[in-house]
Amino acid sequence: MESKHVLTTTAVIGTDINQATQALEQGKLVALPTETVYGLAANGLDATAVAGVFAAKNRPAFNPLILHTNNFSRFAEWGLELPETMLALAKVFSPGPLTYVVPQTSNLIPDLVTAGTHAVAIRVPKHPLTLKLLAKLPFPVAAPSANKSGYVSPTTAAHVAQQMGAEVAYILDGGACEVGVESTIVSFLNNQVELLRYGGVSVEAIEAVVGKIKLPQQGFVDNPVAPGQLAKHYATKIPLVHGQVETRLKMYNPNEVGILSFTKTYLDVPAQQQLVLSPTGNLVEAAQKLFAAMRTLDEMNIAIILAEVFPNEGLGRAINDRLHRASIHA
Ligand code: AMP
Ligand code: MG
Repeated sequence: MESKHVLTTTAVIGTDINQATQALEQGKLVALPTETVYGLAANGLDATAVAGVFAAKNRPAFNPLILHTNNFSRFAEWGLELPETMLALAKVFSPGPLTYVVPQTSNLIPDLVTAGTHAVAIRVPKHPLTLKLLAKLPFPVAAPSANKSGYVSPTTAAHVAQQMGAEVAYILDGGACEVGVESTIVSFLNNQVELLRYGGVSVEAIEAVVGKIKLPQQGFVDNPVAPGQLAKHYATKIPLVHGQVETRLKMYNPNEVGILSFTKTYLDVPAQQQLVLSPTGNLVEAAQKLFAAMRTLDEMNIAIILAEVFPNEGLGRAINDRLHRASIHA
């Protein structure tokens, strides 16, 4: 344990693509910046390297990973045939925060990546450093978020170093993530387009291209048929409650409360314990700041985090999904 702690504080952080490439080619783990959150990457065609990702995160093996590369045309080299509708959406949204779940037709992709299902999730992230790195690699990388399973996702290299410094060979520093929440996931199985996870591309934007898509029954995604859609996720250590802030405020000592709000502040709660994600009411800005704010509150000497329900439109749906799953009611 002692040596782990020392390593955590001395993780190699930098912008050297060659060092990152080399480590990945040797089957090691590298943390990568993307526009959504930082990823914990491994050679996605190497079962041993991929197993390292699960071990480093304590991630349950039934939770599949997303494969990332710099251009979808490369998946043909690795045995995947991509559906036409998927490619139509990719023309508009990739590189970007949209992940596509397509039929698994390759015999190069290890079962751990897909959690043994007949589907594989693929994405081309939009970050200049990472796109350069991916272009140099002869394989896609499997990369979930670079945090311990169940905790808040990292949106800076420092967040990664704090929690995963001991587990990675290199942290590629690409600055603070622009989008700040994970990718939207859509599936193209059974001849229909179905939303599996709210994220960085809004439902409205997707429907403007392909028409109505199938949405989850309830407002927040908690879909047991999609592996990995865990009910409890993205959670702070300090209990977080989602919704009815005014009512719940009356139940606690205001000095022990942390607030996560969209635009407003609340009476009686100390100002430094109130994190307002976008005073001007911009959901894109709020999503970008969400996870860093959750981490900041989680470091405070408070008993409870009260989070508002955000407007259920645009990126507000992704924010509500993450807060709902982080909450003690999920
Ligand atoms: P993350 O942990 O943010 O990298 O996201 C990975 C998520 O992608 C998983 O938790 C699933 O929800 C989804 N996913 C990945 N692969 C598949 C798959 N083969 N079938 C369905 N969903 C998948
Ligand atoms: Mg994650």
